[in-house]
Amino acid sequence: MSLTNEKQENLFRADLHCHTTCSDGTFTPYEIIQEAVKVGLSGMSITDHDTMQAYENIFSYAHEMGIKLLPGIEFSAFHQEESVHILGYGFQIDHPVIINLCDKHLERRKNRNLAILERMQQHKLNISIEDIVVENGNRGLERAGRPHFARALQKKGYVASISEAFIRYLGNSSPCYVHGSFITVQDTIDAIRSAKGKVILAHPYVYNYQFCYEIIRDFDFDGIEVYYGNTLPHLENTWKKAAEKRSMLMTGGSDFHGAMKPNLCLGASWTPEITFQHLYEIAKQNNPNVLFF
Ligand code: AMP
Ligand code: ZN
Ligand code: FE
Ligand code: FE
Repeated sequence: MSLTNEKQENLFRADLHCHTTCSDGTFTPYEIIQEAVKVGLSGMSITDHDTMQAYENIFSYAHEMGIKLLPGIEFSAFHQEESVHILGYGFQIDHPVIINLCDKHLERRKNRNLAILERMQQHKLNISIEDIVVENGNRGLERAGRPHFARALQKKGYVASISEAFIRYLGNSSPCYVHGSFITVQDTIDAIRSAKGKVILAHPYVYNYQFCYEIIRDFDFDGIEVYYGNTLPHLENTWKKAAEKRSMLMTGGSDFHGAMKPNLCLGASWTPEITFQHLYEIAKQNNPNVLFF
């Protein structure tokens, strides 16, 4: 008997952070649900960057495959010129405020990506719009993320790896990075709340500690993504304590991107069952027409 493949009551695992081809992952929404079954998950949320496109026709498939699918998203926001990622869960998926914010991000991404291409030309990197959209399956420049630029640079031989592309050109302080228009943390929180969802600060581990501490202090998050990717348990303790002290939700997820982040597998981190069920019930109330368990 394989422990990883066997769904047991005491092994309820819900990975609440992963990306599909609708943003910068390499698995389609259908494939990621199949992967969830393969690794023995009971629940999951697809949290593409700034888009709900993955949810367009997927609930009945998740249901058929026995996966509890919680509506979710990972919004890019800005605070003090830093990029902050905010997870929203359980909200009304067709709420106009969410649709409007996703549309605003499409516009931001398109302009930002054009500006990145311009910077690349200035740095004598011969990368075109076509090179980028080939990487994202012709879903349009407005849906491309920095990993698609990294792949294009790698294919053309400018860099040897995705991480080298981020270090030399695409990272937050690198010469070809452009952040694009600012959508604030507060506006993002307000949008998720308007649609009656829960607001979680994603991966506190990727920020400077002091910056992250101040964000948690200054904004009204419902929870923190305490369990993240391949983070070691002793590191999780810091943010676990911070969440406990403020009675915040503690969620978890892998941030699986398929081949874009080959060292991470789906289910590497997960959300405790009680927290998942809480979010799932909220999703049910907010989306009476969606097929849930
Ligand atoms: P974007 O939303 O287009 O700004 O791209 C952000 C995404 O780029 C993140 O979610 C990661 O998937 C990826 N990313 C950011 N920094 C790095 C890095 N240093 N190495 C690899 N991927 C990264
Ligand atoms: Zn990503
Ligand atoms: Fe993120
Ligand atoms: Fe992510």
